[in-house]
Amino acid sequence: MEPDKQAASTDGLGKGEGANVPLERPVRPPWADFKAALEAAGFHPSRKLGQNFLLDDNMARAIAADAGINPGRFVLEIGPGCGFLSVHLASFGARLLAVEIDTRLAPIARRFLEPFPDAEVIEFDVLATKSRLAPEVLERLPESEPWSLCSNLPYSISGPLLAIASQLDHPPEVVCCLVQKEVAERLAAGPGSGIWGPLSASFQETYSVSMGRLVPPQLFWPRPKVDSAVFIARLREGLAPAELRRKRIAFYRELLQRRRQSVRRVLGDMVGRSAADHALAALGMDPKGRAETLSVDELRALHGEVEAP
Ligand code: SAM
Repeated sequence: MEPDKQAASTDGLGKGEGANVPLERPVRPPWADFKAALEAAGFHPSRKLGQNFLLDDNMARAIAADAGINPGRFVLEIGPGCGFLSVHLASFGARLLAVEIDTRLAPIARRFLEPFPDAEVIEFDVLATKSRLAPEVLERLPESEPWSLCSNLPYSISGPLLAIASQLDHPPEVVCCLVQKEVAERLAAGPGSGIWGPLSASFQETYSVSMGRLVPPQLFWPRPKVDSAVFIARLREGLAPAELRRKRIAFYRELLQRRRQSVRRVLGDMVGRSAADHALAALGMDPKGRAETLSVDELRALHGEVEAP
């Protein structure tokens, strides 16, 4: 496999030319070349690791463009695979940290990314546990500058990973990821939609979320059994400190576990009947309303009311 270095060159990358303006579009070598490299490495795609590679280069390009990256932006990518999305993120000028669990894939991605000195592929399981990032990744994340998370996420870890990212002390300013369509819809859902639940409310404590492009199974190898979609999330205005966000999220999760029941009943079980009645009356909320009809603003107000001394 010999990527076209000239086409992938970052020489003269559009510094100072405004956001999202790459000079050269990297040329992807034929899929047969990657397949040969994968076979030589003894690779068979693993469903457990969500290994579905994005074969459609135009789609990979479009997703990287959706992330709206300025030259010099720090971007975390989980699971670069062969580097099909990574190379476009790098060509938009990202300082890319790509974390790949599969030691057979990382060298292939590294080779494809050779023309981009600001792109690094490291070999780790991004998750230390279901609720914690690997320390080797966490210590590499920016502490104050805005940064982005852009990935074709492995399906099996997308829920936990997005929950962790949204609860970081310094969360990504933009999250632009390709996930199972149903997950994207839940992340972007509104209250009372039937799919509004713990995942939607907890993620939207930190982010405003919109649905992006749909990606059909035939654009991947191997083909997944489900449709996929991009979502784009941006930090909400007036983000609360991480400690408070985490407390609120724990509260939303507990309340929305029983989302079809009345708010009065669920809240009563959580904080006691009289505290629940008092909080609902203070906020003028319908005690008989189902928990699933509450918006993030209402959930937040309710949390403030029952947490208040
Ligand atoms: N970005 C590539 C693309 O679009 O073609 C591959 C995406 S594939 C859906 C998911 C990738 O995540 C695979 O390369 C897989 O090995 C990797 N992966 C799965 N679990 C991981 C984990 N816990 N930590 C890091 N990488 C992981």
